[in-house]
Formats: sequence, C-alpha cells, structure tokens
Amino acid sequence: MKVRVRFAPSPTGFLHIGGARTALFNWLYARHTGGTFVLRIEDTDAARNTQEAVEVILNGLRWLGLDWDEGPISGDATGPSKGDRGPYFQSQRGENYRRRVEALLSRGLAYEHEGAVKFKMQREPVVIPDLVVGNVTRELTDREKLDPDFVIVRSDGQPVFHLVNVIDDLEMGITHVIRGEDHLTNSAKHIALFKAFGVEPPKYAHIPLILNPEGSKMSKRDKGASLMTYLEEGYAPEAVVNYLCLLGWSPKGNREKVPIKEVIELFDLPQILRHNARFDLNKLHWLNGEYIKEMSADRFHELAVHALARVSIDTNKYDLEYVKTALDTAKQKVKQFSELPTFSDFYFKDEIELDGEMIQKDFPSTLKPGFKKLRDAYAQLTKFDADTLNNTLKAVAAELGVSVGVLVHPVRLACTGRTVGPSLYHLIEVLGKERVLHRFDQALTKMG
Ligand code: GLU
Repeated sequence: MKVRVRFAPSPTGFLHIGGARTALFNWLYARHTGGTFVLRIEDTDAARNTQEAVEVILNGLRWLGLDWDEGPISGDATGPSKGDRGPYFQSQRGENYRRRVEALLSRGLAYEHEGAVKFKMQREPVVIPDLVVGNVTRELTDREKLDPDFVIVRSDGQPVFHLVNVIDDLEMGITHVIRGEDHLTNSAKHIALFKAFGVEPPKYAHIPLILNPEGSKMSKRDKGASLMTYLEEGYAPEAVVNYLCLLGWSPKGNREKVPIKEVIELFDLPQILRHNARFDLNKLHWLNGEYIKEMSADRFHELAVHALARVSIDTNKYDLEYVKTALDTAKQKVKQFSELPTFSDFYFKDEIELDGEMIQKDFPSTLKPGFKKLRDAYAQLTKFDADTLNNTLKAVAAELGVSVGVLVHPVRLACTGRTVGPSLYHLIEVLGKERVLHRFDQALTKMG
C-alpha cells in the first residue's frame, strides 16, 4: 500500500507551531515511505477565510521546506508548489460533499432534522486503533447516550468539519491520518462515517500535545507559538525544522542536531513519543546558533541577504564577492539572523552616521594628530590585509607612545559606527582601502 498522508489546516491567519509540527510529521512520513504528501486547506468556514490566511500557511510550509506533492492545477494566486500543483481547497469541493450526503440520506444513514442533516451515529462505544496511543475506546457521553446522532450539514447548508474531513480523506485515498491529539476523540465520529460510506477508515496516529514551559497546552498566546515569529526574527528554517522534529520524536542516543536527511531515514510512526512535548525556546535558540555556526558560507549568504533585505539593506548593489566575504566575518558572531544588521550593516553604507554623544566622547580633538597619522600610514600601504593593518596600527601607537587600545576603539567607531562587530582588522581588510580612508576622513572632520 502506497502511503498517502495529508496536512489539513483551517486558515485562521495563524500557523501554530503545533500545526507546523503536524505538517512536518506528515511530510516526514511521506518522504520516509516514498509516499505522497497532500496539502488540503479546510476552508469551509467562509466567514473566516481570507486569501491572506491561506498565504500564512503556504508561506510557513514553503519556508520550512515542506513541499506538497499534488493538488488541482492552480490558476489561483497562491502559486505553485511542485510544477503547477496548488493545494486542495475544501471550498472548491462542495459538489462532492452534496453527493455524499445524498448517498447517506438515500441509504437511510442520515436524516433531515429541523432543516439540518443529522448522521445516525452508532449506539455503542467506538474503538479507535491508534499507532501512537494504542487502542482507545471512546465511550458515549451522557448526552450522547440520549441521542448520539450529530449534525453533518447545518440548516444554512454548510457541511460540518467531521463530514468534509472524512469525505476528503476518503476521496483522496488517505492511508494515515497523522494529527494532533486534540482530534483523538473526534475520530469516533470519523470512523463511524467511514463505515457508513462503506470503507475502512485510515490508520490513525495522534501526536501528543505541545506544552508551554508552565506545563499547560501551548496556546496561541504563548511566546513562540506562531511560526511567523521565527521567520520574522531570522531563524534558520533548518534549525526550526530540526527543533520541531524533536517535539514528540527522538533519535537514539539523545542526539539533538540531526540533519533532515537523516531524520527522513529514521522517522517512523511507532517511534512517536507518547508523552507530551515541552516547548523550550532556549533550546531552539541554541540549535539555531549551532546551525549558523556550521552552515556553509553559501547558505549563510543566502539567508543573510534575506535578513538584510527585511531591514531594507540592499546587498545587490555590491559586488558578490565583497558581500560574501563581508558576511563571512559576521557569521561566527550571530545566533539569529535578526542580529545580523548590527554586525554587518556598515559594509553596505556609503556614510557612517555617528551620534553627537559618540563624537564628543570618542573623538576628542586631542585624538586628531594620532588618528591622522594612522590614516596616512594606512594610505601608504600596498598590502591591505588584516596582518599588515594590525602591525601598522601597533607601529603607529608605539610611535605615539600610546597603547593600541587608544586607537582601536575610535577606528572601529569610524569604520562601523558601532562598538561591537566582527574582528577589526578583518573588517577593515574587507571594506578595502578606499572606503576605509573615506571613513577616516569623515571621522577626522568630526574631531573639530
Ligand atoms: N482542519 C482540522 C484542523 O485544523 C484538521 C484536522 C485533521 O487533521 O483531521 O485541526
């Protein structure tokens, strides 16, 4: 049997970290088994649906690299995933639902009641076989003992979640339903519906909840609950994916940094952990730093260019080699891409702005002769590399009879406008003689 799984989010305008993890586990299982990963937007609740809300989901999945495999040819604005295939939208499948409801009505398995359509639910408890939690028996509640039937089409004609979810899983040939544990009890209704349609239900794998650091179910309001936060704050998507893998799954030997290729090989449903996962932002932060440290210069460059563009720094205006070497000097310094502008924006500026307070404090007029001397020494250099720059500064400081520290701090300020940054002589080397002398001259005019 070829595996077919799906991620079936409702477009709420928010992609919860738990939803992203559900998508990831489905995607992993599809990739592990060579199966198919379907994306289905459950947008029957017309009041809440907007194109923007759908985009939040699509952008989140794209950012994580969770590509979906099929869907109708999309002429819509959501754009392609693979080839021209967009996700499925329940809002475009009304005809299927109507046909299926007719079938249930005509076979006496559903009936009309006060303008709505109700499904004749079985009277006995339902056993839900689950690959993660084992067999779960869903007993009837006291209310259900009186009347277990439930509405499948509301009186306004809207089909309800349980119905459309099951019809789509059936028609899309879904073999495994991997979703959050909060849906476990719904599965009783779903299993009964599958049976009414005359087919075996798919296999279920309900994955444990994600808890916030206080130990209660992670909600929308908890810090770090929205996937967009990570995109906006400049996390590396591979670090976020790795972290999400660890929320309910674990490779042997307590390893934490596991490349996605390896996770695909190792991932399987029986290994999903049964206990709830605890969300730990510090661990994600740490993991992100590890990924950045070990990432190739090319990958760093790719993500860095995006991060800088988000704060309106356009690196395209500069020579590619210059951008790459410049960014490389910042690589060891940052744990998040959002920190990158602080460590590299000066490479991409024509002028360095210095506030008045800095000038007063760090550029006293007494510094001027020494600073000028260093400027002229740098101007004489034919080799403008870090070692030579370092030695030259040392020599000038010795000549002036001051410690190197007296020059180092104002030089950094003049060249970068900041008190922290990449290694000084390396950044001067990368900036190059022309830019550096220009910055020295600018600083000298400010020394009064
Ligand atoms: N639309 C449902 C949700 O977002 C889907 C549940 C399922 O995966 O079956 O919770």
